[in-house]
Amino acid sequence: MAGGQSLGPMLNLRLAQPKQVIDISRLSELRQAKIEGNVLAIGACVTHAQIEDGDMPDVTLGLMPFVARGIAYRAVRNRGTIGGSIAHADPAADWLTTTMAMDAAVRLHAAAGHREIKVADFIKGALETAIGKSEILTHVLVPRFFPGARWGYAKYAKKLGDFAQSMAVAVVDPERELARIVLGQRAEPPALMRGTSELLAEKGYDPPRAELVAAIEADLTRASIDPGDRTMHSAILARAVQDLMV
Ligand SMILES: Cc1cc2nc3c(=O)[nH]c(=O)nc-3n(C[C@H](O)[C@H](O)[C@H](O)COP(=O)(O)OP(=O)(O)OC[C@H]3O[C@@H](n4cnc5c(N)ncnc54)[C@H](O)[C@@H]3O)c2cc1C
Repeated sequence: MAGGQSLGPMLNLRLAQPKQVIDISRLSELRQAKIEGNVLAIGACVTHAQIEDGDMPDVTLGLMPFVARGIAYRAVRNRGTIGGSIAHADPAADWLTTTMAMDAAVRLHAAAGHREIKVADFIKGALETAIGKSEILTHVLVPRFFPGARWGYAKYAKKLGDFAQSMAVAVVDPERELARIVLGQRAEPPALMRGTSELLAEKGYDPPRAELVAAIEADLTRASIDPGDRTMHSAILARAVQDLMV
């Protein structure tokens, strides 16, 4: 158990019935962030509130504090952790979509040693990850944005503090040759919008409107999006791209 904000409800509903629960929230090593070259290694037990409050360096030109501020409400953010959020792998969680868009990775530790894996490969499905039985997620590895990088973020939730119905995060960092836009949904894991990402890499922050709409529509078709949700996702993706230009 880290912040207990998802495990608690799962225990209440008897969806999880563990033989033992180990509280890792006070392990000081997991509550800090440290710079490792061009990467910020954020301890798994760093809370959303710590990120919101700027208790650690921000290497994302404001993206991570902005995202943290929009997660649930302050009481949840005071306890909920970035590692717990990614390990739990709720498709609608803000950090899944955001870390995938930033091309971030996680560090997993076991008695035999540690390994690093991109978040995009770590998430295997809704509430399903590539974590091994004897592994613990120790760090989230966030690449430093270059000064010319831009990000865009759009989220639709039925009311403030709710999990998102739709969310999109776009990151364009030409010096890192990175252009990624990721769509977050309620039931399916976040999906990289490949065609739209390629358009952003090719045409920059402000692609021609008709080409942007065509790329988004083609990506939504490839992702087999529920037709009832298509308009909402299409608008959220377009808004995240618009945000890049601000
Ligand atoms: C009312 C409410 C509203 C919320 N709204 C949002 C929202 O809008 N957006 C959003 O993104 N999130 C939201 N959340 C989720 C919350 O932000 C937490 O991030 C999330 O609950 C998981 O973090 P945690 O630290 O509480 O994990 P826990 O509940 O402690 O753990 C969750 C799972 O991950 C495992 N785990 C935890 N840490 C590790 C680790 N280091 N290594 C391996 N396994 C680990 C646990 O064993 C457990 O299975 C909401 C939660 C609540 C209760």
